[in-house]
Amino acid sequence: MEIEFLGTGGAITIPRPLCNCNVCQEARNKGVPFSRMGPSIFIHGPNLLIDTPEDIYHQINRSTIDDVKGVIYSHWHPDHVMGRRIIESLSADWINYPPRNKKIEVYIPEQVNIDFNTFLGSNEHLSFFESQGFANINQLKDGEYLFLNKTKIFPFRLAEDYVYAFLIENENKKALVATD
Ligand SMILES: [Zn+2]
Ligand SMILES: [Zn+2]
Repeated sequence: MEIEFLGTGGAITIPRPLCNCNVCQEARNKGVPFSRMGPSIFIHGPNLLIDTPEDIYHQINRSTIDDVKGVIYSHWHPDHVMGRRIIESLSADWINYPPRNKKIEVYIPEQVNIDFNTFLGSNEHLSFFESQGFANINQLKDGEYLFLNKTKIFPFRLAEDYVYAFLIENENKKALVATD
């Protein structure tokens, strides 16, 4: 099992724009690992992104990722969803007519789906992608798991019960991904 940490910087990435504190200056001068982008993780094999912060374009460009099949969301917070347009950028075919868009599978756990209808227009935006042929939206009921390319991905609620963590199992390895 190969897991790539795309961003570990939390809700405010480092360096914070216009901030001249020591931490941000060091991050600006030295770069990685002192500079840290928003929360996102990639599971190689199923080629699944967990969350899409606003830095996701740059995170994928600097990563070893060569294909993205799907995206799953842990919760509705802005630092986890505001890079949603990556779904369109990865899938839209601007060369052929009619376009042969590559559909990205989007997986939304039960409470995240409810919250996506309430906050930030996330479901409205994802429905737009689906209507344009950029995405397939898959709603997951609590207790359901995904089985993608020999890897089991089981979302479950944390104590803060609108947030999901993921138990990832592949052959004889297990990993727990809890992004908040
Ligand atoms: Zn700072
Ligand atoms: Zn959060």
